[in-house]
Amino acid sequence: MNITNTLSVSLGLVLSATLLACSPSSNVVASLQPDEISGPPSQAPARSNRGLYTKAWQHGAADCKAEQGAAFEVYQHDARSYIFRQNKCHSYEAPFLYLLLGQDKALLLDTGAATDTDKGGREIASLVSAILDKQINKLELLVIHSHSHSDHYGGDAAFINRPNTTVVGTKIAAVTQHFNFAQAASDQLALDLGGRKLTIINTPGHQEEAITVYDPDTDWLLTGDTLYPGLIYVKDWPAYKASVARLHKFAQHQAVSAILGGHIEMKRRAGKYYEIGSRYQPKEAPLPISTRQLAGLHKWLQQDKKQERVFKGLVIKPMSALQKSLSNTARWLAN
Ligand SMILES: [Zn+2]
Ligand SMILES: [Zn+2]
Repeated sequence: MNITNTLSVSLGLVLSATLLACSPSSNVVASLQPDEISGPPSQAPARSNRGLYTKAWQHGAADCKAEQGAAFEVYQHDARSYIFRQNKCHSYEAPFLYLLLGQDKALLLDTGAATDTDKGGREIASLVSAILDKQINKLELLVIHSHSHSDHYGGDAAFINRPNTTVVGTKIAAVTQHFNFAQAASDQLALDLGGRKLTIINTPGHQEEAITVYDPDTDWLLTGDTLYPGLIYVKDWPAYKASVARLHKFAQHQAVSAILGGHIEMKRRAGKYYEIGSRYQPKEAPLPISTRQLAGLHKWLQQDKKQERVFKGLVIKPMSALQKSLSNTARWLAN
């Protein structure tokens, strides 16, 4: 989510208001029929991932003023894999962040949104440090981003001066320097954490710098805002179509049992989602997208209909010309 990106506060407010007004109303959604792509994954989830298909996450509160929960929910999947969800009362985006530990390095995918109570990421930095401090080996920390929308890099400041830490920047030059898909002449790169060899896949479309991380230890495909149970804005339709095709092909050749993205916005009721800005989602859908849903989305995109489409478990929406030009302006200001 977050199609405004970095802007000055005042311009950001104007753009936010404009873009919010561009969001589809629930009436529009109700008039569309949800498609038949949902249900159990076509690859049976590894036993360790089954719980993710039923797990209820902390989902905000009806009265956020009275809510006293922690800044992040921490989910330890196994000894070397963690998921964090930011508190919806602190940021309505409530992004998911992922921490994977190898023998030499740890990878943090995204640092969350800046909030009124924590503008610099101190909360997530202290959670990550507490986990790393418990490890026998002193691990180098690499911080990367699923893409360059501000709800995914808002906590970077707390990591920039952290010892033994590299934070890959969010601007195109910094991302390209670290993940140079063009030079590799491939849309995939290997990233070895030491005994844990990840694959980084180039997946632009929602946003220019979007990448996907595959972890063979957990069978997770970490897709950021390219694929998640929610309203997915697509800035570059042909690039998105190619990225989904790439992910679909990848998932046919690798064990993928949970596709985990950056947010949950869908309700458990097929085709319905919480409005942008919602801070209370008591009936939200599970986090994982299945490989069956990925296959269904790929098949539909092949028809070349550039239009909003409501599926049972997610919604795809092309950005309007106005949204694209606002996004480009934001990029120009940021770069
Ligand atoms: Zn997002
Ligand atoms: Zn985004």
